Amino acid sequence: MIELALLTGGPGSVRDVNSARVLATIREHGPISRSELIKKAGLSKATVSVIVANLLERDAVRESGKQQPARGRSRILLEFNSAAMTVIGVQLSDDRCQFVRTDLAGTILDRLDVEIDLSDPTEVPAALARAIRRLVRRPGGTVLGVGIGVPGRVDAAGRNVQVALSHDWHEVGLADELERALDLPITLTNRAKVAALGHLAAAAGSPADTRVGRDLVYLYLGDGVVSGIVTGGRLLVGHDGTAGDLGHVMVERRGPLCTCGTRGCLQVLVGGTAIATDAGLDSWEALQRAVAAGEPAALRAVRRAGDRLGMALGHLVVAVTPSTIAVGGPTARLGAPLLAEIDRAVRRCAPTAGPVEIVPADDDAPPRGAALLWLQRAGLLQ
Ligand SMILES: [Zn+2]
Repeated sequence: MIELALLTGGPGSVRDVNSARVLATIREHGPISRSELIKKAGLSKATVSVIVANLLERDAVRESGKQQPARGRSRILLEFNSAAMTVIGVQLSDDRCQFVRTDLAGTILDRLDVEIDLSDPTEVPAALARAIRRLVRRPGGTVLGVGIGVPGRVDAAGRNVQVALSHDWHEVGLADELERALDLPITLTNRAKVAALGHLAAAAGSPADTRVGRDLVYLYLGDGVVSGIVTGGRLLVGHDGTAGDLGHVMVERRGPLCTCGTRGCLQVLVGGTAIATDAGLDSWEALQRAVAAGEPAALRAVRRAGDRLGMALGHLVVAVTPSTIAVGGPTARLGAPLLAEIDRAVRRCAPTAGPVEIVPADDDAPPRGAALLWLQRAGLLQ
């Protein structure tokens, strides 16, 4: 559970159990009168009165009109003031880092794109802090915390990047350093995994629907392959943070050697560069052009990649039974030809599985998902 730096200490703070209960009750049942609130929260009148005064002062709650009961005085109604509080979600990536500011339901209110050089992990926290401060300083409510989607493997608690082979990062304690610099609670997650939550929110139209039992897989295809798994609206992390690391599943026993030391890992065979090589082309850009032009050799290579992805995804589909697989990342730019092959391969490799839709991922899914995960871990979103 994240401690909310800006809402800490004493009654009215979200850390305080009774205050959290009052806030959650107002959020769920608001607009609500004080007397209803006392009943629903199961707390004394005096306790609720002190907590509400504090929440009003902190703008966490606001008055929203009056209710006239059949008898007696009119009652002032209270509602959760999600507009006064915001969260920042970030995706770190090589071409552009995406920063979004969302309300407490995950709706994007503001955004910023910044180029940050990720090659030296010692330089990254300062650059990140600068960009986050820019967004914090803009008008739009209090920022409660920051969720960051990073490349590589993150510990289950969301504090450290244990290893990001693509960027040669090892044990980078990004969360601690940023918390010191920004005085805001930070949580880290793998950018592809957390994108599953972001895509689900975008697909649902209303981000609050992420609470509903929804099951979705986000598939990141770059030179690495990672999946994000959401079951019942919650991101699956696993006891050691490695849930969904699909890229190192072996799909060809005598295949090429992978950076992990094993042969025939999925990501060595289906990464953008690998598909280009398989098609006899010298670059990823050449592959994109050839696929767009419908060249048979390129389409055959895409078919082989789709096949291998289907073999690995088929197992995941049977285990998780997602309604949707959202495909994002650089290799997903191959578009419909690749998605159609994945679709075909999943059906062939998991013939008894229920219907699953293969769709292109929402562009804002990774930073939005990072904000949503922060909210879930802070107990502000179920
Ligand atoms: Zn591997």
